[in-house]
Amino acid sequence: MKTIGLIGGMSWESTLEYYRIINETAKVKLGDFHSAKCLMYSVDFQEIEVLQHENRWEELTDIMVNVAEKLKSGGADFVVICANTMHKIASAIENRLGIKVLHIAEVTGEKIIQNRMKKVGLLGTKFTMEQDFYKKVLKENFDIDVIIPDENEREIVHKVIYNELCKGIIDKVSKMEYIKIINNLALNGAEGIILGCTEIPLLIKQEDVNVPVFDTLKIHAVSAVEFALNK
Ligand code: GLU
Repeated sequence: MKTIGLIGGMSWESTLEYYRIINETAKVKLGDFHSAKCLMYSVDFQEIEVLQHENRWEELTDIMVNVAEKLKSGGADFVVICANTMHKIASAIENRLGIKVLHIAEVTGEKIIQNRMKKVGLLGTKFTMEQDFYKKVLKENFDIDVIIPDENEREIVHKVIYNELCKGIIDKVSKMEYIKIINNLALNGAEGIILGCTEIPLLIKQEDVNVPVFDTLKIHAVSAVEFALNK
């Protein structure tokens, strides 16, 4: 079994779920007393969130590379960034440290293809929805077309992530707003919806909507165990 190096704390509300799902998956796959070999470095999200919103990505890259280096020297065989947004710097970690980063958009793309979908909606932070680093992986590696909510809706999705979900607040009104936005994406042709922020599955479950959803946290966490065991 390979040792998983988790970069957590972005936010810790979702990292808790990673730790739980990773160990539950190891238990189901291996039985007995098995659990996953892993190391976690959990950041102070306040520092990260400020730099993100000031667009200081070079400093963020240095922080993430530094954290990944600690995991590598502690014995991690590969890195799992427990967030979608910070995958903006995934290739910098791979290039600078020569360690594999198990990319969340890559494993999500595999799931979408397995479900024979060609066009999906993406919910996440504005960084994830509006910039290219995430959608590009889906388009170039899987030929999946990605549509995003309109500007006003993106603002709502982004604010709910940072002002509520990352602080552990689950609000019924926000849930209704998200459902409306998901339904609009489905009306615009999305065959499935990527819950492309690891806090969104805390708010939206499959049973809340008619269109299939891709829970990136769960897909990523299960894939981490599969990668640790198989490849
Ligand atoms: N966990 C989030 C994500 O999956 C958002 C928080 C962050 O900016 O890292 O994108």
